[in-house]
Amino acid sequence: MTHLDAYNRPISYLRISVTDRCNLRCAYCMPPEGIPWVPHEDILTYEEIETVVRAAAELDISKVRLTGGEPLVRLDIVKLVRMLARVPGVDDLAMTTNGILLSRYASSLAEAGLERVNISLDSLQPVRFRSITRGGRLEDVLEGMEAARQVGLEPIKINTVVIRGMNDDEVVDLASRTMETGWNLRFIELMPVGHGGWLGDEWTEKVVTAEEIRQRIESTLGTLEPAKVSAGSGPARYYRLPGAQGTLGFITAISEHFCYRCNRMRLTADGQLRPCLLSDEEIDLRGPLRRGAGVAEIKELLLKGVESKPRQHDLAQSHRPKKRSMSQIGG
Ligand code: SAM
Ligand code: SF4
Repeated sequence: MTHLDAYNRPISYLRISVTDRCNLRCAYCMPPEGIPWVPHEDILTYEEIETVVRAAAELDISKVRLTGGEPLVRLDIVKLVRMLARVPGVDDLAMTTNGILLSRYASSLAEAGLERVNISLDSLQPVRFRSITRGGRLEDVLEGMEAARQVGLEPIKINTVVIRGMNDDEVVDLASRTMETGWNLRFIELMPVGHGGWLGDEWTEKVVTAEEIRQRIESTLGTLEPAKVSAGSGPARYYRLPGAQGTLGFITAISEHFCYRCNRMRLTADGQLRPCLLSDEEIDLRGPLRRGAGVAEIKELLLKGVESKPRQHDLAQSHRPKKRSMSQIGG
């Protein structure tokens, strides 16, 4: 039976950051020089992650997503996918990636039991893509997407963080790709987490709300109709352009919080359980794991996390999570 938190929300989803390292430096996520890496010995081993996932699955937390940093830069990531795919009770195993290395790994990931991928893509213009990601090649991501499609890591969801003055002039172009491609594209509002808070109190000026994006799309491409996406029960609301193959979603953490239907907890690469993305409260799992805690003890700690989930984030009250960057939490 799925466990309910103090506000009656069923908690069924665990996002696991498998590394804080990344092969890109997206402007809203990390500073150009990167951030100090967590020492290797502090990062959870695959066996430790597996113990947490076993415990989670026994609590009917059956949906697991691997993220990072960039999950595909962690050595032997396919091995972890294979280990987790075999855990009884895990019935949805997915990954969020920047896609740069995906063409290399897609087929072995699928063969190991990964079901689908979300890919981050903030621009369709190669020069701009390189500048936002500080060095990434758009071509690599597009090849990664195609490789994922060919091996059935679907439905592929594409995540686009929209930032005023950076890529907001591309929302119509991006949306129009859903006409013929079957893309499930999600526009994400910029959050003031880690380097996303690089603008200090000015960050709100850079946020482009879902409502504004929607108006721009509808005024050029037609009225959006509500749509359903077959896998995942994430925070996005989905729509479709008239006659389009793909869908458009909006993740409105800022303009309209979706905390009332939050179903997730997060595990950082160094083994801290975060009941809420936007609160710095954490429960240490690494210490207990290294003192020999098994599935039963980790289950107790996960339940503590479920019980301590806050009702909602309080960004509106100017509270900012300070302890970690988005790349350490996993988005
Ligand atoms: N490296 C992988 C990737 O980029 O997909 C996985 C980790 S990344 C931290 C996960 C997601 O968080 C990405 O879709 C990224 O665009 C998003 N993200 C990072 N910083 C953000 C911010 N400040 N506001 C909103 N989304 C952010
Ligand atoms: Fe790396 Fe993902 Fe952050 Fe970009 S958003 S710097 S790809 S972790």
